[in-house]
Amino acid sequence: MKKNQMVDLKGQDEKIKKQENESVLEVLDSTAYINGPQVKEFEKELAQYLGVKHVIPCANGTDALQISMMGLGLQPGDEVITADFTFAATVEVIALLQLTPVLVDVEPDTFNIDISAIEKAITPKTKAIVPVHLFGHHANMDAIMNLAKKHNLYVIEDNAQAIGANYTFEDESQQKAGVIGHVGATSFFPSKNLGCYGDGGAIFTNDDDLAHTIRGIVNHGMYERYHHDVVGVNSRLDSVQAAVLRAKLPNLDAYNKARQNAARKYTAHFLDAKNIETPVTKTNKSCNNAKGICDTCDCHVFHQYTLRITNGKRDELAKRLQSEGIPHGIYYPIPLHKQKAYASERYVEGDFKVTNQLSDEVISLPMHTELEDDQINYIAKIVLEVVEG
Ligand SMILES: *Cc1c(COP(=O)(O)O)cnc(C)c1O
Repeated sequence: MKKNQMVDLKGQDEKIKKQENESVLEVLDSTAYINGPQVKEFEKELAQYLGVKHVIPCANGTDALQISMMGLGLQPGDEVITADFTFAATVEVIALLQLTPVLVDVEPDTFNIDISAIEKAITPKTKAIVPVHLFGHHANMDAIMNLAKKHNLYVIEDNAQAIGANYTFEDESQQKAGVIGHVGATSFFPSKNLGCYGDGGAIFTNDDDLAHTIRGIVNHGMYERYHHDVVGVNSRLDSVQAAVLRAKLPNLDAYNKARQNAARKYTAHFLDAKNIETPVTKTNKSCNNAKGICDTCDCHVFHQYTLRITNGKRDELAKRLQSEGIPHGIYYPIPLHKQKAYASERYVEGDFKVTNQLSDEVISLPMHTELEDDQINYIAKIVLEVVEG
């Protein structure tokens, strides 16, 4: 059996080495290190893949979120509703811009933002909703877009974990996660589903004016050289990273398929387990999910494969996995509303039943494009031994 790793970047890299080397060397030869032709080409290719009008690359996913909010003109004191169960970057940028983060509970099966909790949190100050497509599964975008329309709110999708996932609307039409809201943000951090070899990120929108505004913001607020119309930032994707991403993008669907296959195999081991809840794929009637994993619509691209251990043995399992040399992750061990930086008097503990429970129950198993059957079988055997045994 190969060494177990949480992600296998080297294994994935080896398969595109030749093309990647050529592409990166071309950047080095050209000396167009920043905003070179590779960045422009990547923009076009990603826009085409996602079916969105504008892709604006930037330095990382956190910047992508921050710049999206700046681009929409959100003002200090505006309330922004997001999930209590996500990586801190999502709420960090809201706070940094002196907007007011309003954290709400998530759904117990998909781990995504709970629609009724959003509805309850809307006030006259609410300006935006930030759904996070957590672990590779999109949030309920039909309901979120309806709420946004009804209350005149912006929707900013945090798509750092779900690039390539499809969303099927109630009318059966499909769109990629990240390009449904007014603006979407993603990360190309190396371990993400589409990762570069350093930091990288991008912003997506179909709105021409917003795209124009954002293109200025990422470049010091310049729309004309040395004319600074708005306060901007310096946030660029460098050309070497764009070259790597161009080599990987044509493989993204295959990468996501490999993740889905691994997930399906894990889940097959756990279907009869009494104390293990496997990841659910849930979109609408076209999604043939049941308890297993949808075969038809790519609604979940498994950035993580996350189980809920419901009999209190999560920590025991974590220890055992570690002693067996099997990496694992606890995403996320502390809900954001309990973090010192983001605690607020407005929160009522009873409103976070699900996130509180999830932080005690979740465990993520190794998930990447190079997982082999013997690894999956071995990891599943250990999980079942500890939790069910
Ligand atoms: C990774 C991630 C980010 C931040 O991306 P960086 O490129 O690391 O800045 C934001 N939100 C979520 C949900 C993430 O997983």
